[in-house]
Amino acid sequence: MKLTVTGGKGGTGKSTVATNLALLLSKKHKVVFVDADVECPNDYILLSTKLENEEDVNLFKPKFDYSKCTKCGLCVENCAENALLQFKEGYPFLMPTLCSGCRTCQLVCPEEGAILDDYRLVGHTYRTKVKDNLELVTGVLAEGEERSYPTVLAARQRAMDIDADIYLFDTMPGTGNHVAAAIEDSDIVITVTEPTPLGRHDLEMILKLLKKLNLKAWIVINRSDIGKISHDELLKNYDAEIIAEIPMLDEILESYVSGVPVVEKFPDSRAAKIFESIVERIEEVL
Ligand code: SF4
Ligand code: SF4
Repeated sequence: MKLTVTGGKGGTGKSTVATNLALLLSKKHKVVFVDADVECPNDYILLSTKLENEEDVNLFKPKFDYSKCTKCGLCVENCAENALLQFKEGYPFLMPTLCSGCRTCQLVCPEEGAILDDYRLVGHTYRTKVKDNLELVTGVLAEGEERSYPTVLAARQRAMDIDADIYLFDTMPGTGNHVAAAIEDSDIVITVTEPTPLGRHDLEMILKLLKKLNLKAWIVINRSDIGKISHDELLKNYDAEIIAEIPMLDEILESYVSGVPVVEKFPDSRAAKIFESIVERIEEVL
């Protein structure tokens, strides 16, 4: 089963929800937990563990052999990212940060060997054994890198290569292709939101994305007592259901400050029971 926890905006408590669900699910199932929030991965911190077993994520970039280049300009014309420049009578050259690694330039080049393979480091993935039934795969974007998509894909691939009952993804905020890459093929998508106008707005963006992907949304309203926002209209227009509401609870704050997820620090608390009720819903689908 593939389960994804997402949220339109940052700071909704998405990682807290995902971390607590991962811990509870791993009591009965083999879980691979994927932190695909590559710009700001923090699940390893919430789980009080470390990033281990580092692997590089490299992206193709063209390397020109000017002794074979005829300056025909085809590579420049066909680069959709405008990552290649060529001045009159000159050879093409690359602006690396704009390159998506699509290889189109290499494919259209008529001169064999004029464009060779080269790579740039865009991120890392890590694999950490958290406990017997729980492994964490984390994607981390390289410093200064803007393209998150290849690192999300690499983390996803590394996770899917591990044998498990449940793959639980924690996505980046937003609705870009990096989020779609983590969400697609999910059996269950849990969207975490908060009852504020901004929370509602971003929730609708995610619901639109899920509609395009033909996926149903399970909504968790975090900090449910901080505002009064009606979700009736959204529930009518999209395939969505509110499965849990988590109020501001002292035990969540205390567990956050202590660095131990609430389902472990306060297993009998109201907050832990809410997470258990979400797990029961998930297990109905398993
Ligand atoms: S790999 Fe793609 S994006 Fe990069 S320079 Fe070639 S055509 Fe442009
Ligand atoms: S397509 Fe090949 S031959 Fe033409 S300018 Fe680019 S590298 Fe040179």
